[in-house]
Amino acid sequence: MKNNANQFIQSADEALRDPDIQKAVPYGTKLGFDKRISAMYEFGEEHGEALRDEASQIKRRTLANLPALLEEAEKNLLKNGFKVLWAKDEDEANQLILEIAEKHQVKLAVKSKSMATEEIGVNESLEAAGIEVVETDLGEFIVQLAEERPSHIVVPIVHKTKESIQKTLEEKAGMPPTEDPLAMTRFARAYLREKFLKADLGISGANFVVAETGSIGLVMNEGNGRFVTSLPKVHIALVGIEKVVATLSEYATLTQILPRSATGQTITVYTNLINGPKRPHESDGAEEIYLIFLDNGRSEIYQSDYAESLACIRCGACLNACPVYDVTGGHAYGWVYPGPIGSVITPLLQGLENAHTLPYACTLCGLCKDVCPVEIDLPHFLLNLRKDVVQTQKGNWMWSAGIAGWAWIMKHPKLYRWGGKAAARVLSWIPLKELPAPFNAWTDHHTLPTFAEKSFTELWEEHKEGQNE
Ligand code: SF4
Repeated sequence: MKNNANQFIQSADEALRDPDIQKAVPYGTKLGFDKRISAMYEFGEEHGEALRDEASQIKRRTLANLPALLEEAEKNLLKNGFKVLWAKDEDEANQLILEIAEKHQVKLAVKSKSMATEEIGVNESLEAAGIEVVETDLGEFIVQLAEERPSHIVVPIVHKTKESIQKTLEEKAGMPPTEDPLAMTRFARAYLREKFLKADLGISGANFVVAETGSIGLVMNEGNGRFVTSLPKVHIALVGIEKVVATLSEYATLTQILPRSATGQTITVYTNLINGPKRPHESDGAEEIYLIFLDNGRSEIYQSDYAESLACIRCGACLNACPVYDVTGGHAYGWVYPGPIGSVITPLLQGLENAHTLPYACTLCGLCKDVCPVEIDLPHFLLNLRKDVVQTQKGNWMWSAGIAGWAWIMKHPKLYRWGGKAAARVLSWIPLKELPAPFNAWTDHHTLPTFAEKSFTELWEEHKEGQNE
C-alpha cells in the first residue's frame, strides 16, 4: 500500500480543517476510551491490572519462543488439514493469493476486516487481476464504497459522520434515502448477503494462531467473519508471524482483554476458533483453508531493540487515548497503522526514511502506555526512534542541522548568552508577525511572541545585584 507517512504535517494540517474529522473522531475516541475503562475495571482495578500483567507476560513469553512456536503451529495446522504457506514480503503474499485464486478460478472474493491484508494491498492486487473483492465488515464496506482507507485499527470509519455515511451508501450503493442508522445497516446487510452467496473465496486475517491445537482465532462483532470463513469453498487467512500464541488457555486470556481494550466489551459477539477445513460429517465450512504467515519486515523488528512492539494485539486503545490522533484522525499517518502504535511500527516496517515524521507525532504524555493491554512502552520507543532519526540523518536535513547547531551552541555558554542577546535585540527592533520561509512552518500556526528586552539571565543578575546593595 502507498505510504505517505512523511506527509504527516501537511495531512494533519488538512485534518484540522476538516469539520467531519473534527466532529467524528473525538466523539468516537472518547466513547472507546470511556467504555474501555468500564470494561477493564469491571471487577475492580486490581483485577483489571492483573489481567493486563497476565496478557503482557503471555505476549513476552510468546516473543521469546517465537521461532519454536511457529514451527509447532505449522505442524499442528498441517495435521488439522490447513495448507500452510509463508510469505517474506507483500509481493510474495499477493503472489500466493493470486495463485490460489487462479487455481480455484475465483471471480468474486469476500473479505473480513484484517490489517495484514491492508498492509499488502490485497484488494488492489486481486482487482488488477480482474477479481472483484468486497469488504464485508460494515465499516470497511463503507470505506471501500467511499474509495477511502480505514482510519482506525478497530473502527475503520471513526472519521465519518452519520451524514457522510448516508451519502456514501445512497450515491455508491443505491440505498433508498434514509437517515435511520438501523435502516442503513439493514440495507448493507441485504446488499452483502448477495455477495456472500456468490463468492468463490473468503479472505480474512486472524487475531491469534494457537500453536498447541493448530487453530486460528478470530474475534469480531459482525456475522460477516463467519460468512467469509465458512460460506465460500476456499478460505485464505493472512496472518502476521507475531500472532501465534502457545496454548488455548493463553488464547482465552487474550480474548478477554482484547475486546475490553478495543470496544469496551467483556467478550465480542463472535469469538471463533477454526480447527481446519470442513470434515466429511460437517454441513458447512470451507473445503480448503490456506494459512499464509506474513513476515514483511517482522523478522527484522524481532532482531532489533524494538522487538517488543510485536506484542501488539491491535486493540486500538492507544489510538483512543492519544491526544494527537484525537485531532488528526488516522489518515494523516499516511499508511496502514495510525496512532501511537502506527508511529512506532510504520517506521520499522516501511523504513525510517519513509516515516521519519511519525516519531514526532506525539506529545509524550504517556497515556498510550497506560492503556496498552500488553504494556508496550510506546513513548520509550518513540523517543528511541527520534534518536535514530537524528543519528542516521534519515529525517529532514534542516531539522537535523538545527538540532546539531543547538547542541553545539549549548556547549559554548558564553557564545550562547551573547548570541541570545544579539538575536533578541535585532528581533525586538524588527516588527515581524511571522517568520520568513522555511521557518514559517511554526508561525503559520502560532503567534510569534514579542521578544523581551532583557533575557532571564540578565534579569536574574540584576535581581541578585539589587539584593546585595
Ligand atoms: S500498542 Fe497496545 S494499545 Fe496500541 S493497539 Fe497495540 S495492543 Fe493496543
